[in-house]
Formats: sequence, structure tokens, C-alpha cells
Amino acid sequence: MASVFVCANKCGKPATVVCIQCSHGIRLCEACFGVIHAFPALQSHTLFAPHKVCAQHLKPLNVRCVDCAVIVCVECAISEHQAHVRKLDESVTSV
Ligand SMILES: [Zn+2]
Ligand SMILES: [Zn+2]
Ligand SMILES: [Zn+2]
Ligand SMILES: [Zn+2]
Repeated sequence: MASVFVCANKCGKPATVVCIQCSHGIRLCEACFGVIHAFPALQSHTLFAPHKVCAQHLKPLNVRCVDCAVIVCVECAISEHQAHVRKLDESVTSV
């Protein structure tokens, strides 16, 4: 763990989840995720564990680059790993 984020809802708890559909990949605790997404318009938002999200692109890490032996997001896959052997990682879901 390089850094600890606190919940963006300022509840004082550590942020344990991230919403990549809210602005800038908002980091929240699970309780505040529920509070912030209580509105019907936001209920399609998906909760992700921070380590399952690309910090650079705010996309789910769900593509495995076989050549580099890393898991990357689709944006990384089509840029940095374009010439590599890649597989969609079916084991990676939203948390
Ligand atoms: Zn959201
Ligand atoms: Zn919170
Ligand atoms: Zn990426
Ligand atoms: Zn690669």
C-alpha cells in the first residue's frame, strides 16, 4: 500500500472503494458509496476496489497482457500493449 486515501465524503474513514463513473474516480468508503449513489440516476454506478482500477485512465483493470505479465485497462491495452498478446481477464469483476 503506497498511499492511503480518505473518503471523499469527508466522513473520516479510509476510502476502500472507487467509483470510476463519478468525477475523477471518486474514492469513498463503502458506507458513503451507498449514500452518494442513493439517487436513482446514479444507481448504475459500479463500485470497484481501488487496486482494480487503472490510476491513469480510471478504467477497470480487466485485460491481461501475457507478454508483460500485468493486468491493465483497455486504454493501456490499446496504447502501451498494442503489439503484445492480450487476453480479457474474466476473473476481474467489479470487486
Ligand atoms: Zn458514482
Ligand atoms: Zn465515507
Ligand atoms: Zn490504463
Ligand atoms: Zn504488454
